[in-house]
Amino acid sequence: MTIVLNEHEWARDMIESRSLGAKPFETLSRVAKYYIDKDYSKKEVRGMLDTFLLQCEPTASLPKWAETLDYAVARALKYDAIKIDGIEITKPEMERIDALEGKQIRRLAFTLLCLAKYWDIVNPQGDHWVNSKDSEIMRMANINTSIKRQSLMYFNLNEVGMVQFSKKVDNTNVRVCFITPGETAMVVTDFRNLGYQYLKYHGEPYFECQNCGITTKLNDPVKGCKQKYCKECAVEVAMKQRVNSVMRQRGGSKLFN
Ligand SMILES: [Zn+2]
Repeated sequence: MTIVLNEHEWARDMIESRSLGAKPFETLSRVAKYYIDKDYSKKEVRGMLDTFLLQCEPTASLPKWAETLDYAVARALKYDAIKIDGIEITKPEMERIDALEGKQIRRLAFTLLCLAKYWDIVNPQGDHWVNSKDSEIMRMANINTSIKRQSLMYFNLNEVGMVQFSKKVDNTNVRVCFITPGETAMVVTDFRNLGYQYLKYHGEPYFECQNCGITTKLNDPVKGCKQKYCKECAVEVAMKQRVNSVMRQRGGSKLFN
């Protein structure tokens, strides 16, 4: 599952925007969980998923989706919804990361630390193990490099005692060994673009989109004009403004807020 700190809030957003998101099964599971926690029966929730699916995709075939929706409800019954306000990164942890040689390895260490803290909350017996997929870790860390270089970075982090590997041969799990109590340096509330958040913390030209909250690079940092939205949201916001202005010209009321 993609990491979401507040699953109910996330599900509510998807219901409101009638969106299946990039991973429909994950969305359906979270929407099911949201309804189950609102005390609807299993049967009611199953029906609500049909409705939600059709709201997102009016042409979807219910029989084709039936198995997926059944499974989403079963999964929702099995797991508790995740609700985490934020992950705290301490000053000693940040110093340890900042001392690493190389920009990418710092972003990787920061991302692994966030993930270890996240999994510790989700599973208190987790003991700082990170179970996320390699490709997902690299995406969150905003690192795009060869597998060889990725392995080298893990090797280096292991050498300086910041991570440990699972002994199992068929398992690439990593344990983070530098969780240190201390004064809070930063609170992470969004697991998208953790690498960029690390860079933003250190004063590099990144910003938080006012619409969706994702941290992205400033298009033109020297320009001075303050950028408000990420690329995707800028297109969406411009479209809504255009529709509203057409509605106004025709004497109608605003379609979007
Ligand atoms: Zn955005």
